[in-house]
Amino acid sequence: MQSDKIKPRYPTKQIFVGKIAIGGDAPISVQSMTFSKTHNIEATKAQLDRLQLAGADIVRLAVLTEEDAKALKILKTMTNMPLIADIHFKYKLALIAAKYVDCIRINPGNIGSKEKIREVVKACNERNIPIRIGVNGGSLEKEFEQKYGATPKGMVESALYNVKLLEDFGFTNIKISLKASDAPRTIEAYETLRPLVIYPFHLGVTEAGTLYHSMIKSSIALGNLLMQGIGDTMRCSITGELEEEIKLAKSILRYSGRQKEGITIVSCPTCGRIQADLVSAIKKVEQSLTHIKTPLQVSVMGCAVNALGEAKHADIAIAFGNKIGHIIKGGKVLAKYNENEIVEKFVYEVEKLAKEREKEL
Ligand code: SF4
Repeated sequence: MQSDKIKPRYPTKQIFVGKIAIGGDAPISVQSMTFSKTHNIEATKAQLDRLQLAGADIVRLAVLTEEDAKALKILKTMTNMPLIADIHFKYKLALIAAKYVDCIRINPGNIGSKEKIREVVKACNERNIPIRIGVNGGSLEKEFEQKYGATPKGMVESALYNVKLLEDFGFTNIKISLKASDAPRTIEAYETLRPLVIYPFHLGVTEAGTLYHSMIKSSIALGNLLMQGIGDTMRCSITGELEEEIKLAKSILRYSGRQKEGITIVSCPTCGRIQADLVSAIKKVEQSLTHIKTPLQVSVMGCAVNALGEAKHADIAIAFGNKIGHIIKGGKVLAKYNENEIVEKFVYEVEKLAKEREKEL
């Protein structure tokens, strides 16, 4: 079901981070960041593999030392995901990293003289890699912090200042992020900057917290922006497992109408009418269907009250009854099973439907 609340994507310049296009009509990509010491090749490679398996499109790595920067050469041979080097202040690290990675995240305003900026721009131009200007509400340049505090206005002014520093050298291979640690400031900053530049945006809420808190903040901020048509790539930062970041980002994309891929599940909250163990059933259904990439609407309902109505909008559904469940496909009852076998049969039917749809595409 489509809604007028989902606006067309804002037109942006398209850039490439390795093989991944960002901006223009490119799909909105999902990023994450390793938390190992980058020079610890074994640990970093393990995290890159985990992120790839989880479905990340791009990965960022912190570069704090020369050892980290040099390790990128080896790491780049160990993965086919595009890599971004995350650097603060030390422009010489950017000069090393630019030889190996697909993008540099550095704020030109933080690296000192124009000559240093010129050198970083030259290194990125030589390999045709972009620079991400990564503005964070908590670490604005002193002049903006003093003038505006950690406000959306301060973040936007900082971004415009950093953009100009690069544009003055003719460099326009840019993407921008404007992250605050709460949803309202994040939304306002991106909304304000959007009409002022053509460059693609990397969306995120910084230091969003543990899974529970990040889920709420990221859903409010990123969901809101995505539905407005703002955002070209994104990261959901979580103090927790890497895989959760990817899962959350993909879910936000799906539920904000920006990505069709995968299963969208509707399930009822249960009430006194329930006569089956819906909570266990929905958990099993969710776990069993994570591998499906075909866009499918699935509904799992506790009784017949809302089940048929929901089933009309779903591609396939379960409606539970008294210790039984009906499988409903295309609005019609397909089969009836005992409560203890319904999930297995349902998963089989969903997989079958996914394969049929794949053939039609
Ligand atoms: S579908 Fe049935 S069991 Fe579920 S909340 Fe509605 S009335 Fe209750």
